Amino acid sequence: MKLRPHHGLCLNFFGGEGYSPQFIENMAFVKAGLNDDDPVVELTNSVDVICAACPHNIRGRCESFEKVSAYDRAVLSAISAEEGSALRWSEFSAALREHILDCGKLCEICGDCAWFGLCK
Ligand code: SF4
Repeated sequence: MKLRPHHGLCLNFFGGEGYSPQFIENMAFVKAGLNDDDPVVELTNSVDVICAACPHNIRGRCESFEKVSAYDRAVLSAISAEEGSALRWSEFSAALREHILDCGKLCEICGDCAWFGLCK
């Protein structure tokens, strides 16, 4: 399953909000599958399983590509991973927790995101 690195953070805080009903339904479905099945996720700086149902995904490219790419690079750097890294969802989640969430780095990664108020 392809996953943008910063979407690991979005999934951590997801509580039913999102860009559209379809987006929310897909996000909930993906989150449940990750938690139930613990699949291998391939970290990608491109559209992923979350973007698949997003109204800002315009013909396979995020409308905010530069902004979200910066979030993705910041997450990869924080957890010492690279684009294309493949690891179990549980391992990825644990790395996000250890290197970003538990040490208070969330604001450094995505503090200017429109959704940040929901996550902080
Ligand atoms: S298309 Fe952009 S705004 Fe939509 S989920 Fe993907 S990264 Fe986020």
